[in-house]
Amino acid sequence: MSQPGMSKPSEKPIVLQNGLILCFPGISDPIPHTRTLISGGSIIEINSFQEPTPDNSRVIDCSNCLIMPGLVNCHVHAAMSLFRGLADDIPLRTWLEQYIFPSEARHVSPEMVRLGTTLSAIEMALSGITTFADAYFFMEESAQATLDVGLRATIAQGILDLPTPDTGMKCSWKDRVSEFLQRFPSDSLISPALFCHSPYLCGSDTFRSAFEISQTQGIKLFSHVSETKTEIDEIYKLYGLSPFEWLDSLGILGENFVAVHGVHLSEKDCRILMDTSLGLIHCPESNMKLASGSARINDLLQMGVKVGLGTDSPASNNNLDFFEEMRSASLLAKLSSNNTEALNARQTLFMASTQGARILGLENVIGTLVPGKQADIVIVDLDQPHLTPLYDPVSQIVYCAKASDVRDVLVSGRVIVRNRDICTVSYQDVRRRVIQLAGKIGADSGKRLFQEG
Ligand SMILES: [Zn+2]
Repeated sequence: MSQPGMSKPSEKPIVLQNGLILCFPGISDPIPHTRTLISGGSIIEINSFQEPTPDNSRVIDCSNCLIMPGLVNCHVHAAMSLFRGLADDIPLRTWLEQYIFPSEARHVSPEMVRLGTTLSAIEMALSGITTFADAYFFMEESAQATLDVGLRATIAQGILDLPTPDTGMKCSWKDRVSEFLQRFPSDSLISPALFCHSPYLCGSDTFRSAFEISQTQGIKLFSHVSETKTEIDEIYKLYGLSPFEWLDSLGILGENFVAVHGVHLSEKDCRILMDTSLGLIHCPESNMKLASGSARINDLLQMGVKVGLGTDSPASNNNLDFFEEMRSASLLAKLSSNNTEALNARQTLFMASTQGARILGLENVIGTLVPGKQADIVIVDLDQPHLTPLYDPVSQIVYCAKASDVRDVLVSGRVIVRNRDICTVSYQDVRRRVIQLAGKIGADSGKRLFQEG
């Protein structure tokens, strides 16, 4: 398996010219931009002319644009785009048990995962997300879809103490994980990981064994933790501990563990998060839509906990617009803490880029724009009515910008979005196949599809 983040050669050197550039989101502010040279997938120099422009360079003019690091979506179940809008306005457990799990049992297959992930990867690329952390089933298919679209990803194989669409009744999750790791494509843009669904669907043996595998393989272990009050009550009844206290008692929390949600936290839980240095992924829109609650993000940031941002699934959000997610994160933090200073624009953009990269172990590869790092870059068109006047570009990005303002996207020096169009796959072909499959999924759930291929 190749090392995550090692450079993948791009076709041609790229020169970005003009506009503004934001190299360190949340740390420093944008500055006027002259020229950035990209070659071999990496940033060679920024605002400097020491290196000559290669004759075969592709020049991209960025006048009236902001050049910034690609956004990092630290939690998604990408293939679930095919279940988007199938069942809404329902509490989490009812939504899962009565709608999602039955639909998954009938329709999740390698083909479905490949197609649904491709659709989500296109949506994410168009929204300025250059790296995502995915978690679902048949995850070698997610890896292929990620490579087809040209994004960077950490791809986690789902684990439950129940039969899943990719284990059925015939094999154990351990067999599935070992097959996943064997089949995982070797490519510098993607790395494998594991995902224990949650403390209410995975017991102590499962968490311990998954942790051991993740340690041996040197990969991340993700889990939903403390998402709803129901979960807290259930875990207290089972173990007499909160979900984080219980996981800590298993000795598995640390830098390699990535917890998703953390909506309901006691003071003791907050200290566990701080002491174990784990990454916590905040998914504000999914938490709001499922009425799960609002996480104590402001408290956690003040304690120094590493918090990243995630969309969660396109079936519980229901879109993957990361600009909307940033705005929601900041506004929810202010509302829930009754504090206008909570999660300000700079903290939010840091969380959505540099901190997300750090939590995924990619801090030396992406997350800021510096020579030597990979050229994962988003070019945002600032010449929009809702972005005018421009007193503070960071404020505009977090509070005003939309996914549709993303003009161009580069991943490892490869242009994957140009002039708001995906360049690497045919969206029309993906759309046609999605509509075909969605017709069957809808019919099985008594839902009419209002689209034609
Ligand atoms: Zn999730």
